[in-house]
Amino acid sequence: MSTRHDAIVVGARCAGAPTAMLLAREGHRVLVVDRATFPSDTVSTHVIQPIGVAALARWGLLDRLAETGCPPVHTYTYDFGPLKIEGRPGSGDTAVAYCARRTILDELLVAAAAEAGAEIREAFIVDDLVVEDGRACGIKGHTKGGRSVTEHADVVIGADGWHSIVAEAVGADTYRQTPPLLAAYYSYWSGLPIEGRFEIYIRPGRGFAAAPTHDGLTVVIGGWPHAEFEANKSDVEGNFDRMLDLAPEFAERVRGAERETRFAGAILPGYFRKPYGPGWVLVGDAGYLKDSITAQGIVDAFRDAERCATALHEVFSGARAFEDAMADYHRDRDRHVLPMYELTCQLATLAPPPPDIQRLLTAMQGDQAAQDGFVQANAGTISPAAFFSPDNIGAILSKLRQ
Ligand SMILES: Cc1cc2nc3c(=O)[nH]c(=O)nc-3n(C[C@H](O)[C@H](O)[C@H](O)COP(=O)(O)OP(=O)(O)OC[C@H]3O[C@@H](n4cnc5c(N)ncnc54)[C@H](O)[C@@H]3O)c2cc1C
Repeated sequence: MSTRHDAIVVGARCAGAPTAMLLAREGHRVLVVDRATFPSDTVSTHVIQPIGVAALARWGLLDRLAETGCPPVHTYTYDFGPLKIEGRPGSGDTAVAYCARRTILDELLVAAAAEAGAEIREAFIVDDLVVEDGRACGIKGHTKGGRSVTEHADVVIGADGWHSIVAEAVGADTYRQTPPLLAAYYSYWSGLPIEGRFEIYIRPGRGFAAAPTHDGLTVVIGGWPHAEFEANKSDVEGNFDRMLDLAPEFAERVRGAERETRFAGAILPGYFRKPYGPGWVLVGDAGYLKDSITAQGIVDAFRDAERCATALHEVFSGARAFEDAMADYHRDRDRHVLPMYELTCQLATLAPPPPDIQRLLTAMQGDQAAQDGFVQANAGTISPAAFFSPDNIGAILSKLRQ
């Protein structure tokens, strides 16, 4: 006879492990399962924007991350060719970003969930949900070569990424879908020093970036429109190399460095899924996905984890009905992420900045406050809707006219 859990979390990375940790810290019985074992990598670069770093600090985990030797990133540079915007991605308590290898970050998060009292089952594959009277109430799964196991819970939380078996099993409604816009590839380089900076290069039809990570390595990511995926896929290395020539100084630095890994790549569609229903909840990429160009997935997973755990704690402690608490979770998520989703979809086209944005970039030269605002809007520290509002753009442009 298996124990009944308050929650079963499927997926133990950026969304699942913190959700489990926060629920377990409130004294709830949580089982977390993942088909992966930890430490392990996943296909993703890993800039943790300042808002995500602040979440790690709130959870008491930032010192642990810093102790792993991950260098902080205090400056972002957006190089548009003729114009450059450089600024700080945050301020005050949320001043810096980190670019932590997922092998290290995800293991740290899983350990924190276990420390909080969550039961972690690695190398466990979920095959299906248990649904009774239209309500999810458990999972069926197995370890490699093992027999089928059933576990029951009041709530099943899908933190199982964009191919979420939880979302599929419950038939979660999907809306605001966008097709893949970019084909993105990355690899790790030694001998490419980039201390404290996230360098981003934007050229018509191409975008690439570099950031410092663990072990003295630099991750270099870049890509082209999805329409070119088929034509370019047989020679990713050559196409990547030619792309770098669009920023000759950067290309020279990369050519003087050593590539330590093969290229990994991904093509992401965009979508929102309704993140709750009878007996189930979605967090992270399982509930909301967008292109990686704005590097928001980890922050979004952390935010979902915190808001979902708060809502479920209210439910488990009898303070609120499930439907009420989760409807708020859903509304808050969509309200918060929509401006960044729209910006991400626009940037991922790799179209040249429209004339009003080109005027804005020109007007921001020599205006450090505006450049910090631009960087923070792209990092998600402030809302892109606020920074790119007609009033704010008008105020910046008016300085140009003075
Ligand atoms: C190329 C690329 C670059 C990116 N760069 C950045 C970046 O710089 N910054 C950033 O913030 N975000 C970035 N992202 C996005 C980021 O990787 C994701 O948003 C983030 O990993 C989402 O976390 P998650 O926990 O929701 O899902 P995932 O990290 O996908 O974890 C899901 C987990 O669920 C497990 N799982 C799935 N199905 C099952 C099953 N049936 N049974 C058991 N376990 C299961 C998987 O094993 C996995 O461990 C990038 C993504 C890509 C593809």
